[in-house]
Amino acid sequence: MNIIQVYKQFPTPDSCITHLEKVRWNGTPICPYCKAKSSTPAKNERRHHCNSCNTTFSVTVGTIFHKTKIDLQKWFVAISLVLNAKKGISARQLARDIEVNKDTAWSMGMRIRRAMKDYGSLLEGIVEMDETL
Ligand SMILES: [Zn+2]
Repeated sequence: MNIIQVYKQFPTPDSCITHLEKVRWNGTPICPYCKAKSSTPAKNERRHHCNSCNTTFSVTVGTIFHKTKIDLQKWFVAISLVLNAKKGISARQLARDIEVNKDTAWSMGMRIRRAMKDYGSLLEGIVEMDETL
């Protein structure tokens, strides 16, 4: 996906969460703390309450998106840029493309490349082109 496609497909942070939940859980949220599959969605935010260990969690827990201040949209664009750049992408270029500072771009690039080892299929699922569009 290119930048325009990413923004078209994910116009809001909410749509990013929805997509992430689909790619990661395929409809059944799994508690990242106790792995239980029984949870209740929270009313006002995109979190789930685990019926087994009583914690609340969102789909980003345990992923590279957890506890970042960067919009999920920017992450999605960054992932598609990093994954599509055959010769690699510089922090400077990434910074320009997603409008973050160079240090932020550098650490995002590092996290994405590191995550490819453990979450390769999740990252690829995020930026896979939806054939129906
Ligand atoms: Zn739990």
